[in-house]
Amino acid sequence: MTQQILVAGAGIAGLNAAMALASPERHVVVLDRDPPPPDTSPEEAFYDWERKGATQLRHSHVFLGRLVKLIRAKHPRLWTELLAAGAREFTFADGLSPHLKPKYKYQPGDEDMSMLFSRRTTLELIMRRYAQSLPGVTFVPNAGIRGLTLERRDNQLVVTGLRVEVEGREQVMSADIVVDATGRTTQFPDWLAAEGVTMPEAPSSAGILYFSRHYRLRDGMDEPPRDGTPAGGDLDYIKYGLFPADNRHFSVTLACPELENELRTAIVRPEVFEAACAMMPGAARWTDPARCEPVSKVFAMGNLKNSWRDLMPGGKPAALNFFPIGDAAIRTNPLYGRGCSSGAIQAHILADVLSEVSDPAERMREHAKRVETEIRPFFDMMAKQDAQAIKRAENQLKPGYKPRLKARLAKSFLEDAIGPATRDDVRVLRAVMRPFHMLEHPTAWTKRASIMGRILRYWAMPKIFKKALYMPALGPKRPEGMKRLGLNAA
Ligand SMILES: Cc1cc2nc3c(=O)[nH]c(=O)nc-3n(C[C@H](O)[C@H](O)[C@H](O)COP(=O)(O)OP(=O)(O)OC[C@H]3O[C@@H](n4cnc5c(N)ncnc54)[C@H](O)[C@@H]3O)c2cc1C
Repeated sequence: MTQQILVAGAGIAGLNAAMALASPERHVVVLDRDPPPPDTSPEEAFYDWERKGATQLRHSHVFLGRLVKLIRAKHPRLWTELLAAGAREFTFADGLSPHLKPKYKYQPGDEDMSMLFSRRTTLELIMRRYAQSLPGVTFVPNAGIRGLTLERRDNQLVVTGLRVEVEGREQVMSADIVVDATGRTTQFPDWLAAEGVTMPEAPSSAGILYFSRHYRLRDGMDEPPRDGTPAGGDLDYIKYGLFPADNRHFSVTLACPELENELRTAIVRPEVFEAACAMMPGAARWTDPARCEPVSKVFAMGNLKNSWRDLMPGGKPAALNFFPIGDAAIRTNPLYGRGCSSGAIQAHILADVLSEVSDPAERMREHAKRVETEIRPFFDMMAKQDAQAIKRAENQLKPGYKPRLKARLAKSFLEDAIGPATRDDVRVLRAVMRPFHMLEHPTAWTKRASIMGRILRYWAMPKIFKKALYMPALGPKRPEGMKRLGLNAA
């Protein structure tokens, strides 16, 4: 019998669920409250596609190796279609500085560290067209999910379908499986709570606000050369990141700590945003008005959190036949660029589990277990790093603050050991980049004696011998930076 699957939400997780679950034996219906994409080009999708349901859509996005690897292995046609639409592969070798390039020799696995450079709208447009073309997949746009239909069997809640509003009329759609891919604002936990089942989460703040602006290269102009100037940097009171994209577009994100009240209020103004970019050499060479023109306003986003929803509260499935994936289950600080990879991983785990396991309770247990194994190490590491970054930002505001020995050692290890080692030794860079791309456990490289030995050698090296290997100045320190932006540093 054909299995009926309802996927609530057509963002990255919902699209990946459709791609992973598509099969002639299944009927997969993807519902989203937003209208469908325009049936035209990536340009029109970027400017015209109304996506109130995914407000992060027009923020900078980068897509990491793990997502690229998954697409290439499982959906090769989609990969070809993305490249044909103007999205770009950026390989590990492409990212090497002129100093490292001559030292580079290909190693199997390097291809897994390719990133996809694309606007999020372009990725979603092409991914959606691809998902729509797969057997058994149907999309229903303008469909708002209003609730769940449920039964209670042997004191266990079982999800049997969804209440959906399409064109002003509410209807019930039945399903064997319901996937919650409605993202960070999911209402499913509230609907389940009303039935007496809680799916607890313990959110922690990412501690930052996000500000993104998009640009287009002027005719005849190219992106700046990859000469070792960092494409992103953290000055503690402000962070910057550059996001090359498709079809001669790129974007810049500036992130500032939540507690930087004056900066966070001002930076949404285009002239302050541009002035901030201009004072950081890594960003300035991109946003130079001779090279590009801005093509969007400054988009702002706050309330950024790390949160993990417990799918098996008390070791028991919250509700049978119900699978939250993507941001509905796990949210992470966007700075790490891991949300889309994480959503895609969860969707593909779900498809594997549904194919391999038939008992409904066992399915849920297995899904939760595999997601925990795959994603938890990255989640815990990100939450820890965010807590440290919040502390550093607080310290910036304390007059005369002197860091403790432990903090000074950690800073020195980063700046005097890992930094020079990754800028001089391809093996170290490769070892550090694999976890960055979610291809290996985040601390795998710290357990490899050969890698740690190399890093420690750089730490022991007198500064004079590694002078050229230090990160160039990222921008002015806080008092000077605030002054240049016309803001009060007090
Ligand atoms: C500012 C910012 C920048 C980011 N940058 C990156 C990055 O560089 N790289 C990266 O990998 N990740 C990034 N992320 C994370 C990434 O955007 C998310 O992890 C990803 O979008 C999650 O996908 P999703 O499908 O779970 O949710 P979403 O993409 O949010 O999709 C949810 C979908 O559900 C629909 N929906 C919601 N409620 C209903 C309802 N009641 N009825 C019907 N439909 C509904 C919405 O319309 C939407 O289409 C960023 C996040 C933010 C906030």
